[in-house]
Amino acid sequence: MKKFASLTAVAVLALSASLTSLPVQAQNKFVTIGTGGVTGVYYAAGGSICRLMNKDRAKHGVRCSVESTGGSVYNINTIKAGELDFGVAQSDVQYNAVKGLVQFKDAGADKDLRAVFSIHPEPMTVLSRKEANINKFEDLKGKRFNVGNPGSGQRATMDMLLPALNMKLTDFSLASELKADEHGAALCDNKIDAFAYVVGHPSANIQDPTTTCGAKLVNITGPGIDKLIAQYPYFAVATLPGGLYANNPNPVKTFGVVASFVSSSKVPADVVYLMVKAVFDNFDDFKKLHPAFANLDPKDMIKNGLSAPLHDGAVKYYKEKGWM
Ligand code: GLU
Repeated sequence: MKKFASLTAVAVLALSASLTSLPVQAQNKFVTIGTGGVTGVYYAAGGSICRLMNKDRAKHGVRCSVESTGGSVYNINTIKAGELDFGVAQSDVQYNAVKGLVQFKDAGADKDLRAVFSIHPEPMTVLSRKEANINKFEDLKGKRFNVGNPGSGQRATMDMLLPALNMKLTDFSLASELKADEHGAALCDNKIDAFAYVVGHPSANIQDPTTTCGAKLVNITGPGIDKLIAQYPYFAVATLPGGLYANNPNPVKTFGVVASFVSSSKVPADVVYLMVKAVFDNFDDFKKLHPAFANLDPKDMIKNGLSAPLHDGAVKYYKEKGWM
C-alpha cells in the first residue's frame, strides 16, 4: 500500500512537470462518449468514432474514450449534467428531450442538446423463448417480459408502445428491468419469456440467444402500430430480413427509430469539428467497423432523426463539404 502511494506521488510529479513544459495546444484534452451495453451497437459505434479520432491524437491532442452506460435516456441526462461530452441516443428520445416531453417532462426542454449526426436504424426488437409460443406482441400478456432498465432507450419506447396497444406493465406476469447485457442469458436460462431491445442489426446481443437457445423474433404489427407510426414523426416501419439470425428464417415486421450521435452546445466547436471530420474523412473505414453501419450514407446521416439543432462544429464541416 505504502509502496503504491509513493509510486503514484512520483508519477504525478513527473506528469505535472511534463505538462507544464508543453505548449497549451499540445496538452491532452479528454472527451468521453456515453454508449450502451457492451453487447449492443452503441458501444461499437462509440468505439469506432473514438478509434478514428484517436488516430490523429498526436496532431490534435484530443483523446477520446467510451463509457458503457444504461442507454439513451441516461446519456442525454448525463450530457446535460456536463459529465459526458457526447452520447448515442435514439431519435425518439432525442426528440422528447428537445421538447421536454414524456420522460423529460419534469426536466423541461433541453436547450443545450445538440445533434451531430444520425447513425444506424434501430428497430424495436422482441426476442422470445422458442417454448413460450409468442407469435405477436399481444401474446406477451401473462408472460415474463423484460421491458428494459430505466435509462435505456427500449424502456422509453416501451412507454409509448404499451399505451398504443392498450396494454400496461401489469399485463405481464413479470415486467423485469434487466440491462441489455443481462437479458440474453436470462432468456436462455428460462428466467424470462421475452425481452425488448431497440438495437441495430446484426447485433451480437441478439445473435447469442438465437444460436444458444433458438430464441425467436416476434412480429410487432397491427392497427395500434400503424397509428403509432402515423402519430409520431420519429417512428417508421422496419423489417428484419429472414435469415439474419440463426433459427429465424422468415422476415419479421416491426417499427423503429434511428440511433443518433448527440452532444451539448457547451462542448467546444473545434472538438466536435475534429470528431465529425475523423468520421467522414475516413467514412469507408467507419462503415467497416460494424456490420450495422454497412449501408450508411452521409447525406441521410446529417438530416434523418435529428430534432436538436446541429452543433456548430458539425455545421462547419458539413458546409466545407458542400453538404449544407
Ligand atoms: N437503443 C438502446 C438504448 O437507447 C441501446 C442500443 C445499443 O446499445 O446498441 O438504450
